[in-house]
Amino acid sequence: MDKIVYLDNAATKKMSKAALDAMTPFLTNEYGNPSSIYSVGRNAKKALESARESIANALNALPEEIFFTGSGTESDNWAILSSAYAKKNIGKHIITTAIEHPAILNTLKHLEKSGYEVTYLGVDEYGQISLDELRSLIRDDTILITAMTANNEIGTILPIAKIGEIARERGIIFHTDAVQAVGHIPISVKEMNVDLLSFSGHKLGGARGVGVLFAKKGLRLPPMIHGGGQERGGRSGTENVAGIVSVAAALEDMLRRLPLTNVSEKRDRLIKELLKIPRSKLTGDPIKRLPGIASFTFEAVEGESILLLLDSLGICASSGSACSSGSLDPSHVLLALGLSHETAHGSLRLSLSEDNTDDDINYVLEKLPGIISRLREMSPVWNPNS
Ligand code: PLP
Repeated sequence: MDKIVYLDNAATKKMSKAALDAMTPFLTNEYGNPSSIYSVGRNAKKALESARESIANALNALPEEIFFTGSGTESDNWAILSSAYAKKNIGKHIITTAIEHPAILNTLKHLEKSGYEVTYLGVDEYGQISLDELRSLIRDDTILITAMTANNEIGTILPIAKIGEIARERGIIFHTDAVQAVGHIPISVKEMNVDLLSFSGHKLGGARGVGVLFAKKGLRLPPMIHGGGQERGGRSGTENVAGIVSVAAALEDMLRRLPLTNVSEKRDRLIKELLKIPRSKLTGDPIKRLPGIASFTFEAVEGESILLLLDSLGICASSGSACSSGSLDPSHVLLALGLSHETAHGSLRLSLSEDNTDDDINYVLEKLPGIISRLREMSPVWNPNS
């Protein structure tokens, strides 16, 4: 296959040139262990700390508030489990939203098995929560609120600063999963009133296998991984120096490009044109949405079938079904929006990056409407006149 149109950047993004250039020396000549005292080790340590400083600046945080982990999932687990264990004598009630990533939901399920109680805040048709409802759910034993900055399937951006304000007024720890947001929209941990924020390097052009956790100064987060005491005792294990350096470089590169108008204009063109397909629907907030995510449902078709036909034409996209777990259940996010199982099955997410060209968009617009028509012709449930 020669032609590849990659529209699954929310799953993972191609490494940026800036990231690859920055990391290469640490995969070749600068191979030292940052904990070693000789010069090769010291060089690695210097690079590690300079990456920490750069990431701290990008988030409006302090370098000592930045911890490196192995993935966004690990950062989410660490933030939630450590907060829950640290506060268990005060209470065991946690509030989250119904549209979180499995990295959050399955961690909370794990806590539910050991006596924690979790309240799942519902969302409206756009994926937005109600702040009044959040206020009404807070109890004296609520110890943690965790709400994503932006949703990975539908691109909705939540009112994080306001949620943080509510949490702070009540003295509750507030964590946000910002895996889809960092590098894509401006992020300031101060303005967002967050205590904990997770993100992941491979969603913004850095290497895979690097997660970051911001933990506000003064918040003593017990470690989850024990060993040699790296990351100031917070997360043991020799740091992935090359990967971390690549993430800092990728983030600097992304921030220079904000507000990603080049990406959001292409997203808007996709949305405008694809909504001309009969009985198609945009999912997520039409305004407060990530610059790169165009997400839809198409009545009477299966998301998986759309993906297979797109793939045969070299177009990489994704659907809302939980493919990663091998299940064909409709996405919990789409169901939370109030969509029926049938409608949720016909979902498609096209996620763009600055690498996508107008030709990429033209190609999708040329191919996708025909794919939907073809699938509908074969569908036993499609009735063009209904
Ligand atoms: N949270 C969100 C919102 C995500 O989109 C993802 C990845 O898709 C993750 C967490 C997990 O990140 P990682 O792949 O780095 O573990």
